[in-house]
Amino acid sequence: MPELPEVETVRRGLEPVMTGRLILQAQVNRPDLRWPFPPRMAERLTGARIEALRRRSKYILADLSSGESLLIHLGMSGRMLISGAALGAFHHAHPAPAKHDHVVFDLEGGARVTFNDARRFGAMDLMATATAEAHPLLSVLGPEPLGNEFDESYLVARLAGRNTPIKTALLDQHLVAGLGNIYVCEVLFRAGIHPERRASSLSRAEAASLVPLIREVLADAITAGGSSLRDYRQADGDLGYFQHSFRVYGREGAGCVTPGCTGVVQRLVQSGRSSFFCPICQR
Ligand SMILES: [Zn+2]
Repeated sequence: MPELPEVETVRRGLEPVMTGRLILQAQVNRPDLRWPFPPRMAERLTGARIEALRRRSKYILADLSSGESLLIHLGMSGRMLISGAALGAFHHAHPAPAKHDHVVFDLEGGARVTFNDARRFGAMDLMATATAEAHPLLSVLGPEPLGNEFDESYLVARLAGRNTPIKTALLDQHLVAGLGNIYVCEVLFRAGIHPERRASSLSRAEAASLVPLIREVLADAITAGGSSLRDYRQADGDLGYFQHSFRVYGREGAGCVTPGCTGVVQRLVQSGRSSFFCPICQR
């Protein structure tokens, strides 16, 4: 499941190919993904210019000259493939149409962007740009973790009096948008906070410390995505997903990476999701 840094990496990969370009033809090969596509999607996209490509939480939004915005959600397995454009030193010819190529954009300048999604948990929708924030998928979202609205006083206030575990609180998309299981595990490890602590039990200093750590963990992953992006673009034009090395996530039974710590990373299940933590570093 792509998290915010992966989506941001895909957005950055698409930006030079899509922004400012006219969609010469949009081809929509099926009526739906996770949900039905909007009516006449291909016609509404064809002939529009992509004026900006932005991200909100785990969604990519393409603002179009038609006054509409295209919302793209990669879902579990959605991938964006770029062909026909020079990417760095490489030029990728258009591949033969493949199974699961659900939406294909042919762009001014010769680039093609193909949305391929084997499991079809992805989604696309069109809405007026002016009221995009009111879209049902976006209106429920809290502030962006890398934005100015998300700051220490906001988080301290929102965690106070909250009786859920801190892990669950940070996964709540109303509280902060786009934080997923992997990065919350990493944040709590860096903060030295046990994932089962009640949010309300955090001191003001502990709660405040989470804000710069959240930004740091996400920024590190986006930086790692940027370097993998260069590799992907050079490899085959597939803006796929990249593997990180995590400090606790997925490391059950391995030694804690904190210098001098003799702890062994443990896993517990909270709300159906695995939490990884060091029982010595995280209290
Ligand atoms: Zn440790």
